[in-house]
Amino acid sequence: MLHIAIIGSGPAGYYTAEAAQKQWGDSVRIDIFDRLPVPYGLIRTGVAPDHQSIKGVARRYETTALSDNVRFVGNVTIGRDVTIAELQDLYDAVILATGAPRDRPLDLPGEGLANIYGSAAFVGWYNGHPEFAELDPDLSVDTAVVIGMGNVALDVARILSKTRTEFAGSDIVAHALDLLDTSRLRKIIILGRRGPHQIMMTPKELGELGDLDRARPHVDSADLPEPADDALLEPGIRKSVGHLRRFAEPSGGAFFGAHDIEIDFRFFAAPHALIGTDRVEAIEVERTTLVDGRPVGTGKIERIPAGLVISCIGYRTEPIAGVPFDERGGRFANTDGRIVHGLYCVGWARRGPSGTIGTNRPDGFGVIEKVAEDKAAGAFGENARDGGGGFDRLAAARGLEVVTFGDWKRIEQAETDRARTGAPREKFVDVAEMIRALG
Ligand code: NAP
Repeated sequence: MLHIAIIGSGPAGYYTAEAAQKQWGDSVRIDIFDRLPVPYGLIRTGVAPDHQSIKGVARRYETTALSDNVRFVGNVTIGRDVTIAELQDLYDAVILATGAPRDRPLDLPGEGLANIYGSAAFVGWYNGHPEFAELDPDLSVDTAVVIGMGNVALDVARILSKTRTEFAGSDIVAHALDLLDTSRLRKIIILGRRGPHQIMMTPKELGELGDLDRARPHVDSADLPEPADDALLEPGIRKSVGHLRRFAEPSGGAFFGAHDIEIDFRFFAAPHALIGTDRVEAIEVERTTLVDGRPVGTGKIERIPAGLVISCIGYRTEPIAGVPFDERGGRFANTDGRIVHGLYCVGWARRGPSGTIGTNRPDGFGVIEKVAEDKAAGAFGENARDGGGGFDRLAAARGLEVVTFGDWKRIEQAETDRARTGAPREKFVDVAEMIRALG
């Protein structure tokens, strides 16, 4: 029997489990660990609450989760409750699918001022991640600056713009919905250090900004390259740039009323410093010019008033004691998913925060291919490991309160039962509350 431990129950974790099942059928036992009592990682706490169709992929993970040779082992933090070395003794292969849950810092003066958040924290807040449920951002300000031109920046700008009615059918948590309802924001500036041709936003997601009830996107046409230059772009980005061109068309001035929000795209502006006494009051940006596609500062500094700043510039994996880490890349040090003997990584923990949910499927199959190669080469030896049985004994000896998949289904039912009308669930945002729901 081959025993595999997967750390992290997000997309990368479940696709890896699916791949292991396909590879070894009944001859493998898989334990999927999560530090939360609830599964699915980024599907639950990263994907925007108004993108329910993307969250639907969890049904596929459930099929994997319910098979006899896969267990969900929730509420266990690897590196705190159990060490990696202990897992390596118990399982033939340990695969880290822990994602990239930490914000990349801006590394700018003033970053510690109040009402500045990284997207991991801010997205975690509106998605009910227990670690960020208490964030309580001040939305009584006039202007927010969202730094970065990727899909996360779009999610954040859209969530800040929507009316209560537009959240119908979403699973945005009540604390966020209620606070957003009181928002006084009139302007959201999306800040990019490069130009329209260098955005990381995908067309479907960017197009959505054009269909909001009370917010309108605006692009300064002077920032747009010659239309003929778009022909050189790859089709996806060309489509996105098409949306930017649409946002640059004059709206006729009829739209903006007392409760409307302008979403303003500012290109060629690199964040330079955050200004304020206790709370952020402005952001200084340096105008840039592109040299070989890279942003180069011109020395021209501009100050933009901002009462709220959300930096959406990418994520880092959280290091685990004893696991080699690539500080520069912000992920585990690895070669094609191999870290050291018997220890692997997959998904964002392997390659950094890029791609869509679906990108993690080939990644999961890829890491299992490496495990299979190592197994065939005799890397795991002949000694039978204790696997899940051994872990259960360890957990009992330590008094760990392990949450099973069956337990999760009860938590899920309780979340469904308390959902507001039209919403799929009202998430518990506190670990103790989740455990209490188990009775
Ligand atoms: P991203 O796509 O890599 O975008 C990061 C943005 O931050 C880029 O515009 C980057 O600019 C900018 N940036 C980085 N460092 C900066 C700095 N120091 N100062 C100013 N700007 C800086 O990352 P993301 O938006 O966090 O998304 C992560 C992944 O999740 C992506 O693959 C994304 O597509 C995916 N995602 C998908 C969806 C969806 O499909 N609905 C939703 C959310 C996220 P440069 O290009 O100049 O470096």
